[in-house]
Amino acid sequence: MRYGIFSDIHSNLEALEAVIKAYGREGIDTYFCGGDIVGYGSDLHECIEKTGQIASVIVAGNHDWAAVDQFSSDYFNSFARQALLWTKERLNPREKSFLESLKFVYENEDLTLVHGTLDNPQDFDYMLDSLTAEETFKLMQAAVCFVGHSHVPGIFIRDKHSQIHYPEELSVEVRPKHSYIVNVGSVGQPRDGDPRAAYCVYDTAKRQIQVKRVEYDAEAAREKIIRAGLPEYLGNRLLAGK
Ligand code: ZN
Repeated sequence: MRYGIFSDIHSNLEALEAVIKAYGREGIDTYFCGGDIVGYGSDLHECIEKTGQIASVIVAGNHDWAAVDQFSSDYFNSFARQALLWTKERLNPREKSFLESLKFVYENEDLTLVHGTLDNPQDFDYMLDSLTAEETFKLMQAAVCFVGHSHVPGIFIRDKHSQIHYPEELSVEVRPKHSYIVNVGSVGQPRDGDPRAAYCVYDTAKRQIQVKRVEYDAEAAREKIIRAGLPEYLGNRLLAGK
C-alpha cells in the first residue's frame, strides 16, 4: 500500500494543487489528511472541496475546529484570530457540518493519524520534543503515527531499547521493533525555512516513509491573501517559509 499523507493546507489552493500534482507521479493508493484545511489563506471553499474529494480520512485540526466553534481561539495569535474570523464569516452550512464531522484520531493496521498528539488530542498540543513524543509512543497501536500542526516536518524514532531519536533526514526505513512519529509538515504554510509545500509518502511494502517538497506559486497565494483583506504578514510569511 502506498499512502499519501498531507496536513495543514490552510486554505492555500496553489500549494494544495501543486501537492496533488506531485502525488500524481507517486502511484498513491489512499490519501489521508492530518487536518487544518482552513485558516490563514484565502481559498477555503476550494481547499475544503478538493481535500474532501481526495482524502479518504481527514482528522480535525485546531483551525478547522475553531472555525466551527468547537475549539477556543484563546490560543491563537492575533493574525490567526483575524484569519479565523474571516473564515467563519465565509463558511457555508455544508462546509460547517463537514468540519464538525471530523474526528480527532484515525487508526488502521498500518498507521495512526492525529493533528497534534495522541494524548489529549482535543487539546492540540505540539509534537515538539522527545518528552511529548514519548506520551504519543505509549498510546500507539501501529508502528507509525503521522501528525501535523507544527508545520515543521520531522521524524521521531523509538528504537527497540525505547530510546528516542530525532535524526535530520526526512526519509526513514520502518524497521521491526521500532516506532515512528512522522510530522508531515505543512502543505500551505511551511515554517521550517523552506517555502516549498510539504507532503509525505508511506510505502508499506518497501517499508519506507519520505517527507517530500514541491515548489508552488507562493507569490500568487500571497497576493490573494492581501487582496482578500487578510493580514499582509500571512502572505509574506509564505515567501520565507516561516
Ligand atoms: Zn496548522
